[in-house]
Amino acid sequence: MTEFRRIGVLTSGGDAPGMNAAVRAVTRSALLGGVEVMGIYGGYQGLMEDDMKLFTSKDVAGIVSHGGTILYSARSEEFKTEAGMAKAIAVCRKNHIDGIVAIGGDGTFRGATDLSTRGIKTVGIPGTIDNDISSTDYTIGFDTAMNTVIQLIDKIRDTCESHARCDVVEVMGRNAGDIAIQTGLATGAVAIAVGEIPFDEKSAIERIRNARNNGKRNFIVVVAEGKKNFAEGFTERIEAQTGVESRFTRLGHVQRGGSPTLRDRVTASLMGEYAVDKLFQGMSDIVVCERNSNIVSMNIGFALNVDRLFKGKMTDEEKAKIAPEDLAKMEEICIERQTKKMQLYNTAKITCL
Ligand code: ATP
Repeated sequence: MTEFRRIGVLTSGGDAPGMNAAVRAVTRSALLGGVEVMGIYGGYQGLMEDDMKLFTSKDVAGIVSHGGTILYSARSEEFKTEAGMAKAIAVCRKNHIDGIVAIGGDGTFRGATDLSTRGIKTVGIPGTIDNDISSTDYTIGFDTAMNTVIQLIDKIRDTCESHARCDVVEVMGRNAGDIAIQTGLATGAVAIAVGEIPFDEKSAIERIRNARNNGKRNFIVVVAEGKKNFAEGFTERIEAQTGVESRFTRLGHVQRGGSPTLRDRVTASLMGEYAVDKLFQGMSDIVVCERNSNIVSMNIGFALNVDRLFKGKMTDEEKAKIAPEDLAKMEEICIERQTKKMQLYNTAKITCL
């Protein structure tokens, strides 16, 4: 067991529903373990600026159901510099912070590694609606965002049915199509286009034309924002080639807000408690992940490499530097993830008409 005087908790990068539940779980687990907690406002920027408050259990009361993050979030370029890092470390020392739980995405985890190498123990928790962190099956906020999307698409579909229209709906996810695939499946989209899977436009248009000829009146197409410069043009081509009046809708930031679902509240709470437990065990430079329904941890460097491998960003030279058994483990995670994604995509295709 490592002796901690205080730990800090912060949220960084894009906000996500469920972050508050994680902050609450971290705070209360640490307090129960007899360790004080600093709530750090505004991510790493706030850490450098010493913008923090000693939290009691009361400070996190009533937030489990709230979207956004009570700790606010920010992006900080200065933190990435040596001078910024030195500032952050000095603030940690001044405030007796020996460990930090950082909730955010891969950028946040890189920052956590940098702090860890300078003597502050760190644990990352994946918080982003995009589910685009390849080392974990699940990121906090994903379920809430998808539920928001399906509620909105269901409404759009009602009006499509009334007017015999097609609506091409662009959803968030950055470069990952996870939100698009699952919400497309769940709303009966006639086609789903994402950046990472080749899209057969000709057969999608053919499906719409045939279905219209068979009397179908509503057509929903879900496009991931990762499929760049596509959705608006595709809307025009659907109308031109099928005669079905077509509209384009970008759902936008409404997807990032709202009260977290049960899935997000529970996962965030489990991850928050687990993160504190790992810190207290003396672990550092790790990220909490969900793998096959279990909460586990992974070294941040390993997790970031899984991500690069999955996204095809790792060069052969880089691969050669990784121990073969580690590379094999990374490849296994990537294959599992890709298989799950393709299963969902294919089921959506089979069940849509
Ligand atoms: P999201 O996926 O929602 O964008 P993120 O955590 O990836 O979340 P970033 O903006 O990439 O969001 O990172 C959050 C913050 O983490 C940055 O503003 C910066 O302060 C810090 N950070 C990012 N990359 C690094 C890095 N390479 N080294 C140190 N700190 C970093």
